[in-house]
Amino acid sequence: MRNQAVFRVIFGAWGVVAMFVRLYYMRKAGPLGQNISRRREDRLRIALLACSNALGGIGGLVYVLAPQRMKWATLPLPRWLRWAGVGLSAVAAPLLLWTHQALGKNWSAPLEIREQHTLVTSGPYRWVRHPMYTTFFVQGLASLLVSANWVIGGSLLGQGIVAPLRVGEEEALMIEEFGDQYRAYMQRTGRFLPPVKLQAYVT
Ligand code: SAH
Repeated sequence: MRNQAVFRVIFGAWGVVAMFVRLYYMRKAGPLGQNISRRREDRLRIALLACSNALGGIGGLVYVLAPQRMKWATLPLPRWLRWAGVGLSAVAAPLLLWTHQALGKNWSAPLEIREQHTLVTSGPYRWVRHPMYTTFFVQGLASLLVSANWVIGGSLLGQGIVAPLRVGEEEALMIEEFGDQYRAYMQRTGRFLPPVKLQAYVT
């Protein structure tokens, strides 16, 4: 049981860190509605995200505070795999901070161009166009492994899969706003991971 507590504490600590990072940068980005254009997003996708967010959040809270109540959804994962999840969380936490810091006031939950929007190509955006979505996926996977609970992990990993489904629309919006500057940026970056430069291996 003591071993289980380690994973719960780590899971809970990550949740608190993620919440504070998000709240801090939400405040910094300023109130919603300061946009000059906005994309109408797929309702099913928004509903799926809201449900998985609520399920992952509430389930995660119950798991941390009263684990016996979430026992019915336990996954029999080996300890080494759960520790691998802890390792992934340790990567995801600074990545979340780094992406938010780089995106600054250009961040928003809905797809939109904010007033005085600038194209960010620094920090992780120097190599990857959607590092925040990559982080969501990594953290979703980490949550599944650390919690060893299919309801919590499934919801959070589901978010990490559903959120990136909007990249096509997001890139279209960015091209609308930044035109060739964004097209050139697309050429030299990868969508979710840094591009593999094959030329480097060809002599
Ligand atoms: N898809 C990005 C950002 C997620 S936040 C990521 O995964 O890291 C979503 C908002 O970020 C969108 O409304 C979009 O307007 C904005 N955005 C996406 N890429 C951007 C960039 N390179 N520079 C500035 N804003 C960007």
